[in-house]
Amino acid sequence: MVKSQYEGYSADEQHTVARVENFGTAKVYAQNAQSLLNKATGFISAYDFTLNPYRGCQYGCSYCYAAAFSPNSQMRQDWGNWVIIKKNAAEVLKKDLHIWYKKNPDRPPSIYMSSVTDPYQPIESQKRLTRYLLPVMLPYQPTLVIQTRSPMIIRDVDILQQFQRLRINMSIPTGSEKVRKDFEPQSPSIPARLKAMAKLRDSFPYRENCEVRFSITVTPLLPTLPEDEANFISKLEVVDRVVIQDFHASNGRSLIASTREEALALKQKYAWWYNSEQDSYRKFKNKLIAMLPDVEIMEGKEGFGYE
Ligand code: SF4
Repeated sequence: MVKSQYEGYSADEQHTVARVENFGTAKVYAQNAQSLLNKATGFISAYDFTLNPYRGCQYGCSYCYAAAFSPNSQMRQDWGNWVIIKKNAAEVLKKDLHIWYKKNPDRPPSIYMSSVTDPYQPIESQKRLTRYLLPVMLPYQPTLVIQTRSPMIIRDVDILQQFQRLRINMSIPTGSEKVRKDFEPQSPSIPARLKAMAKLRDSFPYRENCEVRFSITVTPLLPTLPEDEANFISKLEVVDRVVIQDFHASNGRSLIASTREEALALKQKYAWWYNSEQDSYRKFKNKLIAMLPDVEIMEGKEGFGYE
């Protein structure tokens, strides 16, 4: 068997990790995590913690800023083709929540899952890490926001229904399949995501003292072809909030959270949108406002808050 370029990906012997298997085209590693709840910063700093069950993401979106946090440059280059399982995740989360509760017995934490991976990427169908983590959180009743682009989240409705403060964010950055296939070819189709959102909406009947909310995050806002636009926007009616946001600026630095070069190159293919990017953004936003009077239209950081 040909060895992967980053077999045992860390140069530091203590932390060298062996590849355990393949899943589709992804090389799978397993590692123990020190902590599962990490202080939330940047555009999600309104939360107490981020929670990432995995490191790496099989969706490998061309614009993903999380690639910048890969363990090494080869893995950064190969973003989307490897994933690290945090095998002790449930155990460590339990410990982290216990510590929080001892310090803050009257204040449940707010948790954003996930900031640098998708908790429902393909390998979750087999490993079920996210599914194991949900019941660990339940007794603490955190404010929980789940950010995903996968219809697989429907599998966990039985547990999600037991949370009292929950927001589900479905990422759908474009209304055109053609554009999706260019920018994020390994991700689920747009119709599948919209269908999943409609199904989720119907799965949470009103319950007293429970606030379950639904967003579609059109982030980063990618072009939607003119012929798809009206139909796409009308389908966003299914949620209570739509969030839009520009690409992350790279400022020419490579080791920060920034849009990857693959996406920047793709922008040239859609010059009709990107040649006047601000204007395209503004026009799309105005159409959202005009066509979705009952939906909250928010931008950037504010849109990612629970409230
Ligand atoms: S699904 Fe999210 S974390 Fe995964 S590659 Fe795409 S943008 Fe990055």
